[in-house]
Parts: sequence; C-alpha cells; structure tokens
Amino acid sequence: MKTKKLVMIPGPTPVVRSIQEQMGRETAAFGDPDFVRDFTSLLDDLKSLWKTTGEVFVVAGTGTLGMEMAVANSLRAGDRVLVVSHGYFGDRFSELCSRRGIEVDVLASEWGRIVPLEQIERALASKNYQAITVTHVDTSTGVCAPVAEIGQLLRRFPDTLYIVDGVCATAAEPEYVDDMGIDILLTGSQKAFGVPPGLAILWAGPKALARRASLGTIPDYYIDFDKWLPIMHEPAKYFATPAVNLVWALKEAVRLIKEEGLENRYARHRRTARAMQAALEALGFRVLAEADHRAVTLSNLIYPSGADDAAFRRLLAEEGVMVAGGLAAYAGRMFRLGHMGNIDAHDLVATLAAIERAAVRSGIPVELGTGLAALQRELVRAAG
Ligand code: PMP
Repeated sequence: MKTKKLVMIPGPTPVVRSIQEQMGRETAAFGDPDFVRDFTSLLDDLKSLWKTTGEVFVVAGTGTLGMEMAVANSLRAGDRVLVVSHGYFGDRFSELCSRRGIEVDVLASEWGRIVPLEQIERALASKNYQAITVTHVDTSTGVCAPVAEIGQLLRRFPDTLYIVDGVCATAAEPEYVDDMGIDILLTGSQKAFGVPPGLAILWAGPKALARRASLGTIPDYYIDFDKWLPIMHEPAKYFATPAVNLVWALKEAVRLIKEEGLENRYARHRRTARAMQAALEALGFRVLAEADHRAVTLSNLIYPSGADDAAFRRLLAEEGVMVAGGLAAYAGRMFRLGHMGNIDAHDLVATLAAIERAAVRSGIPVELGTGLAALQRELVRAAG
C-alpha cells in the first residue's frame, strides 16, 4: 500500500478537508453575486482580525509577489531602505530593492541570532530611510524577529515605513497591523493559513496608502495598489481575474481561525513548537535559533555529527513525512520541519515517530521512543 504523505515542510502545509472542498468547487464567475459577497466578507474579516483601518489586498501570486508589491508601492529609485536580515528571505529584499535602483543598507545577523534592537535604532538615527524591511520569521533560520518592539522604536522615526514579511508567521504569530505600527504586512496562503499556494495577501495601513499616493504613477502594473483598490472595494469590478477557488479556500481558513480564535491559535502554535523542539532536542538534534527568538512555525534542526542528510530525508519520505533541507551554509547539516497551520496532535505524533524511524534507519544514534516520550510529556503538560 502507498504510504500517506504528510507535508511537514515549512510551507505548503497540510490542507484540511473543509479547505480542500473549497478548492474542488465548481469555479464561479468573479461577478457572481455569491462570490462577490464571499470575497467582500473575507476582506472585511482580514481587516478586522489583523486590525487595520487601512486596506487589505488578496491577489493571485506567492509571498514573493507580496514582497514586490510592498516595495513597488512604497519606494522609488533613489530612495533608501534599511533591510534587517535574519537569513535567506531577509536577504531577498536586498536584491528586490537594488534591482529597482533603491539604495540598500543591510543589517544582517549571524544565522540563528537576531540583529539587536539598539543596532537597528542606531542605523535609523544615522540616515533618513524611507522604509525598513523585517522578515517576521526567516524560514532559512527559524529566527523570529521582535516585530512589536521594532514597531515601538519606529514610532520615533515616522518617515520610515515599516514593511513586515509575514510569509512564515501570519496566522501563527501575533501581527496586529495598526497596534504594532506595521505599515505593510505581506504573506502567502500556503503556510500558517493552511491553504494551497497561490495567493499573496497584503495589508497596507494609512501611512502606506499615503506613501503610495505620493508616488503618482508607478511603473508596475499588476501589483499597483491603485489598480487593485477598486476591486478590493467592489470585487464585481474587473482588473485581473481573481483566483476564485483560492479565495473561497482562504475564506474557509479564516472561518476556521475565527472558530479557534486568533489568540488561541497563537497559543496553540507556541505549545506545538515547544513540544516538537523538546522532543527533537531529546533525540540529539540542535535547534539553530537562539532560545529567546525561536519561531513557532518551524524548527531548523542541526544534525548530530556524522548524520547523512540525504539518506535521512530520503528514508523519512519513505516513512511518509516530507521535510525540507537546510539552505546556504546549512545545506547538508540541517533539516527544516514545519509545524504550523491546521495540524493537530495526530500529525505531530506521526511526524515524530517517522523521524525516529528514519533516524535509526539512516544511522543517526537515537533511541526509539525518546523523542516521543518528550513530546507526549509536553502535550500532556499543555493539556493541563
Ligand atoms: N518570505 C519568507 C519568510 C518565506 O518563507 C518565503 C517562502 N518560503 C518567501 C518570503 C517567499 O514566498 P513564496 O515562496 O511564496 O514566493
């Protein structure tokens, strides 16, 4: 019999049945009054749950499109941006901006650590930056940036727009747009929302909208806020075809989020991450991110010495669990395990059991059951 495959990479994440069903519906005309009503209520929910008096955009694309949309609508050639980078995806903003003729200063941390707040503050005070970019959770390192604290210190620099990449964080880590001083938050559908890949979601607060207005006509077409705003206000209008089934899928994901409660969802992710990380440490893996700045959405696990990454991940796939490899200097030395979105204790236990089997089969010296025992203890403790 073919083994069921659990997608435990850091996105796409497992898609639950009720969301799958939305993908399988007969596609409607985007002007269909039922679809227009669904889209409108989704947009209202996204604005109220993430707390902005600004706007939200849901467009076909991926997280990278969201990054590009954020930059294109807030900066122009010759502007200066401060990129805070905790890894590969933080660095992505540098290339994206420099290709547009934007001057880029990068504050990069050693992988696994954060850029200290004081260093960010010093940089902001030293020059006039039109924007700062921060990756909430950098998927290459599993580091979670102190987004709220950075927002706090940015209150002293009102001319600097705060752009946050929430691709690996939104719907798992708190991100209250206006309260946290975030001007643009962007994400994708395929991670903590638990929707298949294909949607970019972007919130723009009042200051970001004012910045867009100040730019006049921009060279970009598909990602121009001004092209999409009329659609986000009245989805029956046409600019470019909405991804109808993905919109329904996201609406179902948001319904599940409301049912669970956003704060409860954040707390569940914290419990899950703690349990998985305790279990994997008990097996002899080391979490790359420093303890105070660990993501709840994924774990980046460094192998015990002598492990064979390719063999381990091949055998793990054979055992029915897909994980991702390490990036850049950590290729071959680390694997990345997603634990976000709509997964439950069954998924966690099955994943960890498969990791134990694959570890033993690939020659990593673990004692079967050690990780599971730690996981079980944490799950029981969390249940109270
Ligand atoms: N930012 C972060 C933090 C990511 O993890 C990713 C994807 N792994 C991206 C941006 C790019 O998103 P996408 O692959 O959906 O374009």
